[in-house]
This record gives sequence, structure tokens and C-alpha cells, in this order.
Amino acid sequence: MSSLEVSEEVRQYLKTPTFDNWQWEDAEIMVLLQVMYTDLDFISTFNIELDVLQQFLYEVYRRYNNIPFHNFKHCFCVTQMMYGLIWLIDLRSKIDSIDLLIMLTSAVCHDLDHTGYNNAYQINARTELALRYNDISPLENHHCAVAFEILEKSESNIFRNLPTEQYKRIREGIIKCILATDMTRHTEILNKFKAILPVFDFSNKDHRDVLMMIMIKVSDISNEARPMDVAEPWLDCLLQEFFNQSDMEKLEGLPVTPFMDRDKVTKPSSQTGFIRFVLFPLFIELANLFPCLEVRTFLEDLTCLELRSPPCVSQKITARLRTFVSQSDSSIKRPCSIIKGLVHPKMKIMSLMTHPHVVPNL
Ligand SMILES: [Zn+2]
Repeated sequence: MSSLEVSEEVRQYLKTPTFDNWQWEDAEIMVLLQVMYTDLDFISTFNIELDVLQQFLYEVYRRYNNIPFHNFKHCFCVTQMMYGLIWLIDLRSKIDSIDLLIMLTSAVCHDLDHTGYNNAYQINARTELALRYNDISPLENHHCAVAFEILEKSESNIFRNLPTEQYKRIREGIIKCILATDMTRHTEILNKFKAILPVFDFSNKDHRDVLMMIMIKVSDISNEARPMDVAEPWLDCLLQEFFNQSDMEKLEGLPVTPFMDRDKVTKPSSQTGFIRFVLFPLFIELANLFPCLEVRTFLEDLTCLELRSPPCVSQKITARLRTFVSQSDSSIKRPCSIIKGLVHPKMKIMSLMTHPHVVPNL
């Protein structure tokens, strides 16, 4: 697998938050992830061998489950949004490369081995994960532990050439970032960020730590900030996973989370509240630090829409929201094939997975 033969056009497109993940197969996505490590200069700066990076990404791929939402494609989307934001706000000129490496790798690993059932289910059903982590962010703790399981193996440890001190800093950073994706900590983290914003200082480690947590949170819930034809299928995937959980909760006699209940939720209703009360407030604070993100204009649009219309205007609202990541050209279509003959030997099996009659033996 090599990223060298990925065209310049694709490399530039990959840096834009309007990137369409649905145009790419998993084997190609692996190469695109490699391009991100290459184009942020991580390969040379941190002396990462290409075959180790390839093995790391392959192990990551294997440890994402085939579930409707929290799968390998979600891992890619979150990582790609992180990558796009790094370029959009020119973060390379503001913080150390090692922090960028932490942020990108955290995004890659942030939902490893997700089972499709959220923390509330884990805790109510007293699953193995809830028991192991004493009900404290069971999933996020698990994602992080799986990440370091992969990194413990020398052949897939992309940090193996780094001095112990740097490894320690990276480990601490990745743990912080992945644990920050637990939505029950949303308000706590957002309030921390708001408090430091007026005096934000890129040379202050505590400030940078909070920014890194905010960045992975923004990336994690950024589907609604993507073009409509990219975001729409993701909402279906999310609701499918929610409904699977609530069906299971009903079967097992566990409390059913209302926003996951197929009898209570509709597509628009599931999104308006989330966009207004979770996504907007988060994006707005990030835009306060990086004015080029221009979130304010569409907050006003949103308010106008809500005043004039009943709650079921989410289509229009989400359309507005997508202007958040404007300016890039989303019309680029995937080239016929960027990576013929460049994939990991085992990846050939993966491309067969799309064929209904082939059962891969991975
Ligand atoms: Zn996620």
C-alpha cells in the first residue's frame, strides 16, 4: 500500500470538510488515512515506517465492527473532519506536530470495537464492559484500551521509534481525547472551553488539552455539517443503530432511551434538538476561537427559521448548518481508481466483502 500514487486532486479534496465518504471503499479509505499521516508530515517527523502504519491501520480496520453507525466508515469520517479542520484553521502553525498526531490518531481509534449499544445500555444491562470499568465511560475506556492493545504490538506500533517521554505524552493525550467523546461529559468540557476562551493561549498546555478535546468532539458529531447527500445516509445509519438498541432494551425489560425508540422518534425530530442544543453551542465556541468558521451567520438563520416555522423544519436547518464548512468544491468525483495494486494483500479479501456471495474469512 502506498499513498504516493494518490493524485494531487484527491489529496486536496481530502483536506475539505465536504469530502464524500460514500464514494470510497474500505480498502481505499485505508490509503486515504495513510495520505493524512503522510501529508501532515508525521511519517518523517516521527520516523513512522510505512509498513508499520499500514499494519496499524489494518488492525484498526479489523477492530471496528460491522454495525450500522459506529463502524470503520464512521472512524474515517471523524478522522477526515479532524484532518479537514486542521487545514481549515491552519492548526499546523499554532500547535506542535505531536499534538496533531495525538488528535488524528485519537480520531482513528475513538470508537474501536464499539458494539452498537451505548453506555446507558451497558450500565443497565450490567455488561462485561460496565463491570470492568465500574460504569465510568465503559465504551470510551474500552475503545482506548483496544487502541493501546494494537499499539502494544511492535509490528503495528506507529510510535515505536519515539523516545519514552514522547510516547508517554502521546498516550496521555490519546486517553484524554478518546475519553472526552463520552457525551455525558459534554457540558463539563464545553464549559471548560468557554472559561478559557477569553484568555486562550496556544502555548499553555492546559488550554491546548481542552482545545484537543473540543476538536475531537466537534469531529465526532459533525455529520450534520456535511453536504446533504453525505449526511442523510448517516442519519439513517444512526437511527438504525438506535432502534436496534431500543428493540433489545424492550426485549430485555430494560429502560428504553426515548430518543432511540422507533415508536417515538421521527427523522426530523431526532435532529432539530440535537443540532440546536448540542451541535450549535459546540461549533459556535470553536468558531469564537477560529473566526474563519463563521458559525454565527447560520445560528441567526436557524433562529429565524424556528420562529417562523414549527419544529419540523430540520431539513432547512440542516441545509443552513452545512454552510459551516462552505467554500470547498464538493463536485469532485472519485477518480476511476487511485489504488489499483497498492492495497494490503489481505485487503483484497475486504473488497470482496461488498459481493453478496462471498463470505470473507478475516
Ligand atoms: Zn464516534
